[in-house]
Amino acid sequence: MAAADGGGPQQLTLEPQHELRMEVDWGKQVHLQLVSGQAEVFGTALDLGERVSIGGQKVAVFTWEGCTLQMDGEPDMMYTSDETPMGQYVSIHDVLDARRQEALKAKGEGPRTFVVGPTDVGKSTLCKILLNYAVRSGWAPTFVDMDIGQGSITVPGCIAATPVEAPIDIEDGLPVDAPLVYYTGTPTPSDNPALYKHLVDRLANVLDARAQSDAQVRASGLVVNSMGWIVELGYELLKHTVQALKCDVVLVVGDERLYSQLSMELKRSSPSTQVLKLARSGGVVVRSRELRAQARKVRVEEYFYGYRKELSPASQTARFDELQVYRVGGGPRAPTSALPIGATSVADPLKLSRVANPQELLYTLLAVSHAPQPELLLSVDVAGFIYVQDVDLAKGTITYLAPCAGPLPSPLLLAGSFKTYLD
Ligand code: ATP
Repeated sequence: MAAADGGGPQQLTLEPQHELRMEVDWGKQVHLQLVSGQAEVFGTALDLGERVSIGGQKVAVFTWEGCTLQMDGEPDMMYTSDETPMGQYVSIHDVLDARRQEALKAKGEGPRTFVVGPTDVGKSTLCKILLNYAVRSGWAPTFVDMDIGQGSITVPGCIAATPVEAPIDIEDGLPVDAPLVYYTGTPTPSDNPALYKHLVDRLANVLDARAQSDAQVRASGLVVNSMGWIVELGYELLKHTVQALKCDVVLVVGDERLYSQLSMELKRSSPSTQVLKLARSGGVVVRSRELRAQARKVRVEEYFYGYRKELSPASQTARFDELQVYRVGGGPRAPTSALPIGATSVADPLKLSRVANPQELLYTLLAVSHAPQPELLLSVDVAGFIYVQDVDLAKGTITYLAPCAGPLPSPLLLAGSFKTYLD
C-alpha cells in the first residue's frame, strides 16, 4: 500500500488481489472514495467517485485489478494483506453459479449452501460475499440467518430469512423489506433446543413453499449462516438444519475436525450433499464476549432507530390486560403413569404459558405475532418487535418502544427471556 503524506484526506494505492483491512470503532467514521481502478467491500462493488462511510465496523476493501482510494478519517487499525481467501471464494461462487443455471434450465432447485464453523472465522462475511456475487450475476438468493446470537436480519433471538435482490449496502447492511422471522426469545439455543428445531422446521416449510411459487427464487437457492457452536448439542443442531433446509452444499470454514466429522456423517445420511473446507481469512477479527453483547445491543438499537438514526420509533403505553403475552417452555410434567416404562418425564419445551406479571417483561423484546390465536404462536412468523421500557404495576400499564406510532397489528405477543438495556 502506498499512502500520500500530510494531514486531511490521504490517497492509498492497492495492488491487484490485495485488501485494505480496517477497524473503525462505534461512534467514529472514516470516509472512503474509489478514485480509480476496481474495489469491493465483502463483494459489494464500490462505484468510481462514490463516497462510503465506515463506522462501528471491521471491513476489508479488496481489489481484483488494483485501485486508488481516498480516505478521510483515522481508522483504529489499518493494514493491507495479499493473503486473502478471495480466490477460493470466487471459485465456490462459480460452482454455485453453474448449479443455478442448470437449475433454471431444468426448472429445479438451486444450491442450498450452509456456511458452518467455529466463532470468528468469517462465516457471516463469506455469506455476504456469496450473496453479493450471486446478485451481481443476476440471481436473487435467499439469505437465511440461523445465528440467533447476533440476529443480522432483525434482532438477536431470531431465525430469519430474507430475499436478497440488490448488493448489500456497505453502510446500511442488508435490505430487509419482507423478512420471514421466527422468535426463539433467547440468543442461546441451549436454553430450548426443541423450540429452536421446531422453528427451523417451520421456516424450512415456508421457504419450500416460496421456492415452489417462483422459478428464479428456486434456482437462486439459499445461503444459510450458522452460529459458531459446533460441538455436542450445537453439532446436533447443525445437522438438524442441514436436513430441515435440505442443504446440499456445506462450507466448513476454519475447522478440520468439524469438516471431517460432517463429511463422514453426511456421506451416510445425505450422500448428495457436498462438504467443502475453507481456510479462515487472516483478516477476521476475534470478538470478546463483551463485544458480542455490545453488538447485540447495537442490533436492537438499529432495529428501532435505523443504521443512521434515521427512523423515529414511538414510545407508547398500553393496559397490560389488553395484551396477551405468552412465554414458551416450562410446561407441566406429564405424570409418570402416562409414560412408557423406563421413560423419564420432562417438561414440554413447546408449552405456552400466559405471562401474568408484567414486571418480568421490563427491558425485554416482545415479538408481535401474525398468529390468529394463541395456540398458533409457534407455528406462524412474527410481524415485528416492541421493547418494554417501563412497567407501572399500580396503573396496570406497560410503556413500550415500537417501530412506528399507532395500535399494534395484534395484541398477541411472544416474550423473550433476555434483557437489553437501551440508553
Ligand atoms: P460469529 O462467530 O459471530 O458467527 P463469524 O464467523 O460469522 O462470527 P464474521 O462476523 O464474518 O465472523 O467476522 C468477524 C468480524 O471480522 C466481522 O466484524 C467482520 O466484518 C470482520 N472481518 C471479516 N473478514 C475480514 C477481513 N478480511 N478484513 C477485516 N475484517 C474482516
